[in-house]
Amino acid sequence: MPILAPEEIKAIDSNATELLESVFGDIDNLKLPVNLNSVLDSCGLNLKEGGFKDENIAAALDRDSKTIFVSSSDGIKKKSFSIAHELGHYKMHQDVKTDVFFRNQATHLLDPEENHRETEANWFAASLLMPEKLVRELWDVLKDVDKMSNIFAVSHAAMRFRLKHLNLLK
Ligand SMILES: [Zn+2]
Repeated sequence: MPILAPEEIKAIDSNATELLESVFGDIDNLKLPVNLNSVLDSCGLNLKEGGFKDENIAAALDRDSKTIFVSSSDGIKKKSFSIAHELGHYKMHQDVKTDVFFRNQATHLLDPEENHRETEANWFAASLLMPEKLVRELWDVLKDVDKMSNIFAVSHAAMRFRLKHLNLLK
């Protein structure tokens, strides 16, 4: 995955924070895990769960029908990340009409621009599901990756990545 510049990451983070605040109000009052259904509702997006013909596909976005498709065979944590990833495209990449989110993007050859967009969508998902302020506050008290990943309903790996990025974990 390409590395994003610090100012790009900052912009993505404020994008996600703005969306959360527009749906839930103050971040301090946000209930965890983030209720993605409320976010989807506020964006006027529909969510459809089902099976993809290609089982390497985790989720997809169709902008025209304002629909996010997510694989019903995934667990709740994976589903949430996939939905948040598609929300990232929806909010940040107006020119992306359709997106297919592969389980293992590294094995798919994406052109550099697409690759960059995919990385941005993943950062957006992390910022949306693990708001920095709340991660910092809870980490201060808990210092436990497993507990944190359950509270935020994200995978252990996603939580670790977020904590490392925020310099809370080595
Ligand atoms: Zn994508």
